[in-house]
Amino acid sequence: MSTRVLYRGAPYDLLPGETLLAGLARQGVDIPSFCRTGVCQTCLVRATSGKPPARSQSGVSETLIASGCFLACQCVPEGVLEVEPCHDVGTFSTRVVQVEQMSSRVLRVELEAPAAFSYRAGQFVQLERPGGVTRPYSLASLPGGPHLELHVTLYPGGAMSQWLRWAIHQPITLRGPFGECFYLQDELDRPLLLAGTGSGLAPLLGVLRSALAAGHRAPIHLYHGSSTVEGQYASAELQRLVAATPNLRVFGSVLTPAEAKAGAQPPGVPAAPTKAAEPRYQLRHEPLDRLILADPLDFFQCRVYLCGDGELVQRLRKRIYLSGAPLTRIHIDPFLPPAPPVPAPAR
Ligand SMILES: Cc1cc2nc3c(=O)[nH]c(=O)nc-3n(C[C@H](O)[C@H](O)[C@H](O)COP(=O)(O)OP(=O)(O)OC[C@H]3O[C@@H](n4cnc5c(N)ncnc54)[C@H](O)[C@@H]3O)c2cc1C
Repeated sequence: MSTRVLYRGAPYDLLPGETLLAGLARQGVDIPSFCRTGVCQTCLVRATSGKPPARSQSGVSETLIASGCFLACQCVPEGVLEVEPCHDVGTFSTRVVQVEQMSSRVLRVELEAPAAFSYRAGQFVQLERPGGVTRPYSLASLPGGPHLELHVTLYPGGAMSQWLRWAIHQPITLRGPFGECFYLQDELDRPLLLAGTGSGLAPLLGVLRSALAAGHRAPIHLYHGSSTVEGQYASAELQRLVAATPNLRVFGSVLTPAEAKAGAQPPGVPAAPTKAAEPRYQLRHEPLDRLILADPLDFFQCRVYLCGDGELVQRLRKRIYLSGAPLTRIHIDPFLPPAPPVPAPAR
């Protein structure tokens, strides 16, 4: 039996098991969406009557839930639902103030921080460029500074990343912040395990910078995966942090065999001074998951942050959970690609 919903006051019938997003798209109503797996929060809408299913509010902030917001891509309505677009997310006009190529594939982009924009390092925002293209990006910067720092992977033909390359001084719209738990919690004595691939380093750097600013006392273990040594684009900053922070260890995992041997340093970067027998900054030719799981960490004690490649993030989450970390202390931010276009409405 189909379910009837009202969207902006007009009735639409959804097929059994169909999500609100898919059902509306099938009938020609275009709600903006991106990953359609409940991660990116692009498809937030608001219920004015009826109760959205709990699954459709997973990962949504308490404030947005309190005003009835939910994710259309995760909502298979269980009863009467009246829905309208969501205008409850902070929306800010800003501009690009700095673009720097950190490696052949990653840009460091700085935006002017809007005065009223409040966030935690590691959360993510939606950027909308002139022309309407919208993409999620994570925040590496600490709140309170004049700029927001993003790390952007360049994709061939990328509608946002290739535009950002030449976007200095351009206006851009920012929405957010999103990401309920991907930031430092107030636990200075709990070990942190931060792991990610490619530009997935951005939110990890945000969490790391917050931890250092807060005077984190417990060990911090950061693992950054890339296919080449050049992909270890923040190695100079990470080595400086390691040199200044006795409780920080950083491992770069590089897949290309000729480029990394155990203990190697990226070219031109001096080795971090260390008193320990094992250097606290190392490049290893070992896949990221193997490197982490071979490390004799007490996973049960750690708070874990995983981000970057979606498939790797999910695999790591499962294996770290099976190695003892409670799921409630594993936070993930899979950098998912855009979902395929929604099929054209049936005629
Ligand atoms: C919550 C969240 C946070 C994110 N944070 C960041 C971040 O901090 N930094 C960052 O660089 N990215 C981040 N991403 C991913 C980012 O939004 C995508 O990289 C973005 O789609 C690329 O946009 P584009 O317009 O350049 O390319 P598009 O025009 O979207 O795509 C161009 C081509 O590249 C492919 N492609 C795009 N994205 C991916 C991908 N992730 N994996 C594989 N192929 C892809 C597309 O399928 C297409 O063929 C995040 C994603 C999510 C869901």
